[in-house]
Amino acid sequence: MHTVVIGGGIIGLTTAYQLASEGETVTLVDARATGLGAAEVNAGWVVPADSLPLPGPGAVVSAMKWMTRRDSPLYIKPSIKPSFLTFMLGMFRASNAKDQRAGFAAHLALMGDSISAFDDYRADGIDFELQHNGLLMAFHDDAHMHLHLGYADLTGRFGIAPVKLLGDDVRVHEPLLRDEVRGGLFFPKELHLDPRAFGASLHARLVDMGVEIVENAPVDGVQTAGGRVVSVSSGTRTFPGDSFLLAAGAWTGPVSKLFGADLPIRPGKGYSVEMPPYGLKGATNLYDAKVAVTPFADRLRLAGTMEFGGLDENINRVRVDAILRAPLSYLRDWEPPAPADVEPRAGMRPVAPDGLPVMGRLPRLSNAYVAGGHGMYGVTLAPATARAMTALIRTGKIDPVLLPFSPARFRGGR
Ligand SMILES: Cc1cc2nc3c(=O)[nH]c(=O)nc-3n(C[C@H](O)[C@H](O)[C@H](O)COP(=O)(O)OP(=O)(O)OC[C@H]3O[C@@H](n4cnc5c(N)ncnc54)[C@H](O)[C@@H]3O)c2cc1C
Repeated sequence: MHTVVIGGGIIGLTTAYQLASEGETVTLVDARATGLGAAEVNAGWVVPADSLPLPGPGAVVSAMKWMTRRDSPLYIKPSIKPSFLTFMLGMFRASNAKDQRAGFAAHLALMGDSISAFDDYRADGIDFELQHNGLLMAFHDDAHMHLHLGYADLTGRFGIAPVKLLGDDVRVHEPLLRDEVRGGLFFPKELHLDPRAFGASLHARLVDMGVEIVENAPVDGVQTAGGRVVSVSSGTRTFPGDSFLLAAGAWTGPVSKLFGADLPIRPGKGYSVEMPPYGLKGATNLYDAKVAVTPFADRLRLAGTMEFGGLDENINRVRVDAILRAPLSYLRDWEPPAPADVEPRAGMRPVAPDGLPVMGRLPRLSNAYVAGGHGMYGVTLAPATARAMTALIRTGKIDPVLLPFSPARFRGGR
């Protein structure tokens, strides 16, 4: 069977890899080069234990508060477009403890033991930095820590419960933390990887495996016959296949219209910046500031902000500067680099109103599928997504772990 994958970000690359590993013929088509944007600039965290959906209790109040600050970690560009208003209403409805817990449990069930896939990728010659030194959440605010501890039953059930570090215990664990940090949660089983190297090496491995990769070919047409897609096209170029997977990240919403759907996936822009190494023991979540700190062997990466605006990767320097300053109240001797010394990069997270991925068969087409909307957790969820979508495409049978993510939960996916 020949599958055409539309989008060479994390989800498209890993699913193409899984399909090819299981003996399928694959063509992967990307609008530009593979592995750019969110796939490249993300923090590189593989963090099932941190995969709470974005909408949650208090999210609406925080959003309103933050909207008044130019340097806040969350920004929503107001619009009166019906699609925007419907999206925000959906997010508002999902901002409650019950839905957030159900979404978190659905993420964990989807992931299962897939975290080991990253070691398997490396064992198969995909060469990228992968660190097994856990994730530390550092808190200024006890309430935030207790909120997260409320999920310890769930994380415990999946074997990834945290170690609680109160007061100075957190500094015993990570001596670089300042005294203002009141506590932390350490999740020993979480990983982090170098996203740029991961994308580039996965691309190279796909080429070795015989996957056809077509770059600079934005899909702008879908040809159907008898309730099936027969090909997709980009300008004058046509890509025929037996099945089609839409994995276009933040662009999935508009591209889904070519397939006769209208999925409510919007871009949630974030930034990352790199600088010389700082000496942290492992990935650290500056929880209250919403900034991710990732120590690689040869550099440090800071990532943050969620901006709901247009489909663009423009850089807002005020928010980037806020990311650079965030560690001042968490890390000892932190000196923010001069803005001129860093080269910020932007990427767009694909976000659905309920903060959950959108995965399954597209409506009214027997051989077209979607895997998008992974929001803040595309790296974390990628291997599990790749496995479940490959099984669906190959057998037509839907794994029950995919059910909470069905496109049919939205009007434009039915
Ligand atoms: C600052 C930041 C930090 C993050 N940190 C983490 C983290 O630590 N851990 C984690 O798990 N996740 C993280 N994420 C989220 C993660 O990066 C995303 O969830 C993930 O990249 C989504 O993968 P994707 O393949 O769906 O989309 P993308 O990676 O964006 O890929 C989509 C691809 O589709 C292509 N495309 C678009 N339109 C078309 C078209 N018409 N035709 C063909 N191709 C098309 C694009 O060119 C692109 O290559 C972070 C994101 C950001 C922005």
